[in-house]
Amino acid sequence: MLGLMQDEQLLISSLIEFAARNHADAQIVSRRVEGDLHCYTYHDAAVRARRVAAALDRLGLGFSDRVGTLAWNGYRHCELYFGIAGSGRVVHTINPRLPPEQIAWIANHAEDRVLCFDMTFLPIVKAIWSKCVTVRHWIALCEANAVPADTGIAGLRSYEEWITAESGGYAWPRFEERSAAALCYTSGTTGHPKGVLYSHRSTVLHAWGSALPDTLGLSARDCVLPVVPMFHVNAWGIPYASAMTGAKLVLPGAALDGKSVYELIESESVTLAAGVPTVWLGLLNHMAQHGRRFSTLQRTVIGGSACPPAMISTFKDTYGVTVLHAWGMTETSPLGSACTLKLKQTRLPPEEQMAVLVKQGRAMFGVEMKIVDAGGEELAWDGKTSGDLHVKGPWITKSYFKGEGGDPLVDGWFPTGDVATIDADGFMQITDRSKDVIKSGGEWISSIDIENIAMAHPAVAMAACIGVPHPKWDERPVLVVVKKPGAEVAREELLAHYHGQVANWQIPDDVIFVESIPLGATGKMQKGKLREQFKHHPLPV
Ligand code: AMP
Repeated sequence: MLGLMQDEQLLISSLIEFAARNHADAQIVSRRVEGDLHCYTYHDAAVRARRVAAALDRLGLGFSDRVGTLAWNGYRHCELYFGIAGSGRVVHTINPRLPPEQIAWIANHAEDRVLCFDMTFLPIVKAIWSKCVTVRHWIALCEANAVPADTGIAGLRSYEEWITAESGGYAWPRFEERSAAALCYTSGTTGHPKGVLYSHRSTVLHAWGSALPDTLGLSARDCVLPVVPMFHVNAWGIPYASAMTGAKLVLPGAALDGKSVYELIESESVTLAAGVPTVWLGLLNHMAQHGRRFSTLQRTVIGGSACPPAMISTFKDTYGVTVLHAWGMTETSPLGSACTLKLKQTRLPPEEQMAVLVKQGRAMFGVEMKIVDAGGEELAWDGKTSGDLHVKGPWITKSYFKGEGGDPLVDGWFPTGDVATIDADGFMQITDRSKDVIKSGGEWISSIDIENIAMAHPAVAMAACIGVPHPKWDERPVLVVVKKPGAEVAREELLAHYHGQVANWQIPDDVIFVESIPLGATGKMQKGKLREQFKHHPLPV
């Protein structure tokens, strides 16, 4: 016997329509590439998203056709999210920080029919347009008079001219909730990037899960600033979760430096901000240098790479802001876990609470986690034993776009490539990316642990720990460090800082001071590049 409840499909269009009806005057504020602040409401966004949908109909795009974007976080990008997916097409966000030839490769692989871009990226578009064989329409996200006449790009027009030709009287189509909605390519270590294809159902369920109190805890009383880009895993799904909850949404555009982010937080009274650790480093440096305080910020979600405990303490002790450490990946939509205390832990002394809060946190409902050994046997949740982290759930990938790379699943679970422990309360802690673990004398050293200790030193701005080949021990840890501006610290002092914090054999063999550490297109340290650069670094034998 089936239940007798309605089979309403979970569709992305329902999110923006819900926001337009129930939170019509809640604001979306965007810092535009034009330089000014643009402010409108969910009602306005819904009207323009419907126009996008109608404009795509007029271009003759079919169901599930892909529409690419090369754009910062802004209101037009948001309208594209809802208009493209809501009308049954697939919004394909492309990371503009990738090399142009890779962008062209991705657009061709996705078979994008339309490509919408911020004017900042006109030079990229000029370089690739003739190579993107499936793209028929290039839409510049600006007013008609801002499009230069002499670009030579066939099929180029302005977004404003394109959508204002439509009436806004559009009815969203209803279709199967498992239909494709959004596509995001993720770069593996080898080979071409692979496409992760989200569905309407996975996106809506992920938004629901991410808004829960123990995940982002997003509500109609929040003002949320996703500094994490909309071209990287849909800004962690925040545009969808904001529409679902009616939170005020603040979009930072291209200005991601500490000063600009700080000013936006203050001017818009942001309560919750989200981004990768490198963004917060810039913000905290700006705050320290100029003696700034936050007036409204309550929480920051930090993920994408491990958040150093020193950053969590600085936010809390100096600025009274709670850090929510979260873990996820493109293949997990991305939120898989977030770190908030359980009732019994709220009575613990602060140091013991801190030992919990530095972890990547508990799985939210909808995500199952396990750790396994090399033979695939499940390992204990004792907080000590580490193994390969596998996940499954309705917003976790089951296959890459066009079946690239074959079947990624192992017994129905997605192997994340991360190494982790899980404790008896279900708190997961990433000890490393499997390729970054340092193997020394048959033992494993967590590069994240070593980096976190370095980051707690007041003179260290950024630290990466890499394994350098060693004739006797296989690999030994070496610390690559960027000092804070004007700060000094000697190699010996940094190494002495480790005594008593880790076993002696885990202390790095050397410290290499550098001007900067290479960051990838999503703001993560590129330890592979460092390993290559320093593979012949002399070590004591
Ligand atoms: P991406 O698909 O580019 O978002 O990268 C996902 C990877 O980022 C994960 O598999 C982890 O290796 C890493 N990652 C994400 N969040 C965290 C975190 N909080 N701590 C440590 N690593 C993280």
